[in-house]
Amino acid sequence: MSNDRHYDVIIIGTGAGGGTLARKLAPTGKRVLLLERGDYVAREKDNWSTRAVNVEGKYQTKEVWHDRDGKPLHPHTNYCVGGNTKFYGAALFRLRREDFCPVKHHGGVSPAWPISYDELEPYYAQAENHYHVHGERGEDPSDPPASGPYPYPAVSHEPRIQQLADDFAAAGLRPFHTPLGIMLNEKDPHASKCIRCNTCDGFPCLVYAKSDAQVLGVDPALEYPNVGLMTNAYVERLETSASGREVTGVVVRQNGARATYWADVVVVSCGAINSAALLLRSANDQHPRGLANGSDVIGRYYMGHINSVLMAVSKCPNPVVFQKTLSVNDFYHGSDDWQYPMGHISFVGKLDGVSLSAGAPAIAPGFTLDLMANHSLDFWLTSEDLPDPDNRVTLDRDGNIVLSYTPNNEEGHTRLTAKLKDLMKRQSKCSVHGHDCHQGLFSRNLFVGQRIPLAGVAHQNGTIRFGNNPRVSALDRNCKAHEVDNLYVVDGSFFPSSGAVNPALTIMANALRVGDHLIGRMS
Ligand SMILES: Cc1cc2nc3c(=O)[nH]c(=O)nc-3n(C[C@H](O)[C@H](O)[C@H](O)COP(=O)(O)OP(=O)(O)OC[C@H]3O[C@@H](n4cnc5c(N)ncnc54)[C@H](O)[C@@H]3O)c2cc1C
Ligand code: SF4
Repeated sequence: MSNDRHYDVIIIGTGAGGGTLARKLAPTGKRVLLLERGDYVAREKDNWSTRAVNVEGKYQTKEVWHDRDGKPLHPHTNYCVGGNTKFYGAALFRLRREDFCPVKHHGGVSPAWPISYDELEPYYAQAENHYHVHGERGEDPSDPPASGPYPYPAVSHEPRIQQLADDFAAAGLRPFHTPLGIMLNEKDPHASKCIRCNTCDGFPCLVYAKSDAQVLGVDPALEYPNVGLMTNAYVERLETSASGREVTGVVVRQNGARATYWADVVVVSCGAINSAALLLRSANDQHPRGLANGSDVIGRYYMGHINSVLMAVSKCPNPVVFQKTLSVNDFYHGSDDWQYPMGHISFVGKLDGVSLSAGAPAIAPGFTLDLMANHSLDFWLTSEDLPDPDNRVTLDRDGNIVLSYTPNNEEGHTRLTAKLKDLMKRQSKCSVHGHDCHQGLFSRNLFVGQRIPLAGVAHQNGTIRFGNNPRVSALDRNCKAHEVDNLYVVDGSFFPSSGAVNPALTIMANALRVGDHLIGRMS
């Protein structure tokens, strides 16, 4: 490892973007330093405790942000090696081919990307390999073309989910197996790292079987002697040369001490909100509105998807352990009765009564929270929100994060919810309770809708958009800052639009693409 503070590449943040890039650059022999504000998530029994994780928020940041009205926000985000992928549900989707083009929505137009799906496709394939994605190509009606099969077979449905898949298929839909990054070997359970447990989505994996950016990004990178990691290393600001054209210093605060590091190439990957905040904090005479922010787009166009968790409570219990295996994309682009995109239907991990008590929904009549959780199918609905310059990250006078957001394009989400309600009404009678259960079908269709509030920033993206025009984007097509020659951004902030599937695989694939560009640049 370097004995001074100068590196070939400094990567700030070790999540989906930074961790993936580190693994890509490690074999080049270039000296790479990873700076991570958090620590490793401790391996302990609480990793799988719903009380510790969901009620006490043990691993979540304690930082307080504010909304545009000055109301405190307690963001559901995690600062640790591997970033938010330590806690993610590992549903690893490619964006649809159409998402790279302008798409007409009910609420406006979702803008095009400066690269096409075909340019990203080889990197999606690489990312699926790196992150052990399990799936079945050809099932998802909206899937873009792929150069090969998934590297691992789809994760099987448990009986209740299989029954639902059959019901959806009988209703004319094409339900499919959710592509998942878990290291599960169903053919040989003794050899399987993953034990298929009920505490995956939202929890760190105690047995390191989730395909997260620590286990499959940072850790493999650190096997190379040319790669180093500093934890608890918060990057306060970036300094530039007098011309403003190069980043010349990365100012780090670690355990109360401040030090400056240097690199030929500096890659910011702090997550869309923190990366924007870092560049805004780094304003100087050459960059008065924030580093690389002549366009004034940095912090703007924040997107986070329109997300809902919907519990379909039934008279029959739902004994599923790993619920997140089924998805429906039939309404992604619209339907016969609605010409605009609606979004994506899938599942969250199985909820229990303890988790529900953290943000208790209205309780279904005659149910306790425990009973409700035992009898629910817990859907996750995602629709696209559109980039709005007034939905943005700014800093208050003390440098703290302010997140301003007004939801938009909501009609598609409302219609998606209505589609799901209708589908649930058309379920067949259940095989266990037979006719009795069928009679109870109406009462099982009790939906308790809970839109994810602003603090739910899990899908944050869009705050440092890439594009060909420096007047309306901060990064070029290689995710290099238009105005700074050695500054790159590889987290979710480069998205000019967000599609309606989970973002992590696209962030990983793009980091691999930028990695190839950097390898070319450095050689
Ligand atoms: C509960 C949950 C479930 C999710 N489920 C899914 C899913 O199923 N599928 C999916 O695709 N996505 C999912 N996501 C979203 C996914 O995790 C994110 O899209 C992804 O991790 C974002 O990657 P990133 O590189 O942009 O940022 P992150 O992964 O958040 O990484 C940013 C890193 O930067 C570090 N950092 C921040 N500021 C600084 C600083 N100033 N100095 C040093 N380091 C800094 C942070 O500590 C962090 O490690 C989920 C997220 C959550 C929270
Ligand atoms: S064991 Fe498998 S299902 Fe459980 S948290 Fe780990 S990856 Fe997820």
